[in-house]
Amino acid sequence: MNIKKAEYIKSSVSLKDYPETINKEFAFVGRSNVGKSSLINTLLSRRNLARTSKTPGRTQLINFFKINDSFFMVDLPGYGFAKVPAAVKKNWGNIMETYLSSERDKVIFLLLDIRRIPSEEDMKMLEYLEYYKVEYYIVFTKIDKLSNNEKFRQLKEIRKKLVFDNEDVFFHSSLKNTGTTEILDFIEEKLNN
Ligand code: GDP
Repeated sequence: MNIKKAEYIKSSVSLKDYPETINKEFAFVGRSNVGKSSLINTLLSRRNLARTSKTPGRTQLINFFKINDSFFMVDLPGYGFAKVPAAVKKNWGNIMETYLSSERDKVIFLLLDIRRIPSEEDMKMLEYLEYYKVEYYIVFTKIDKLSNNEKFRQLKEIRKKLVFDNEDVFFHSSLKNTGTTEILDFIEEKLNN
C-alpha cells in the first residue's frame, strides 16, 4: 500500500471526542520508548507526524491520523513511564478501556522491544486485549539492535512468557526501515477483507 496522504485529525480522551468512524482502523500501543512514534512515522514516511519526543502527562491522548482519505491510524497512549502518579495510571487505564471497549472496527498492533522480556505492564496490556476480544498482532521493534542469532535466542526467552503464533508477529526496524512494507501490505489486506 502506498501512503499518499497522512493527516493529523485530532487528539481525544473520551468516546464522544472520537472522530466518526470511517473504516476499519489500526491502532498502535506499547510501553513508552518502545519506538511507537518512530514506527508510525516510518509507516507514513513522515519524519515527524507522530512526535518522537514526548513528555509524560502530555501523552495521555488518543491521536487519530487519517490516511489516504480512507481510514484511521490511531496512536494510543504509551504506558510504563517510571515516575507517573497513580492517578495518571488510572487515567491511562480508563482511556485505554474506553477505546478497547468501543464498537469501532479496530485492529491493534502491540509493540514490544525485541531486546526486552515483556514487562508486567505489557502482560497486562495483553490481558486487556484478550478480555475485550480485540484483534491484535505483535510488532517486535528495534530489530536492528540484535543479530539473527541474538534474535533467535531472545525470541526463545520471550516465548517462555508469551505465547504467539509466528503469523501474528511482525519484526520492525525504523532505523533500517525493515518490516514496513509487510505491515502496510497487511493493513491493505485487512481493509480489503
Ligand atoms: P515511543 O516513546 O514509543 O514513541 O518511542 P520513540 O519512537 O520516541 O523511540 C524511542 C527511542 O528509540 C528513540 O531514541 C528512537 O530513536 C529509538 N528507536 C525507535 N525505533 C528504533 C529502531 O527501530 N531502531 C533503533 N536502533 N532505535 C529506535
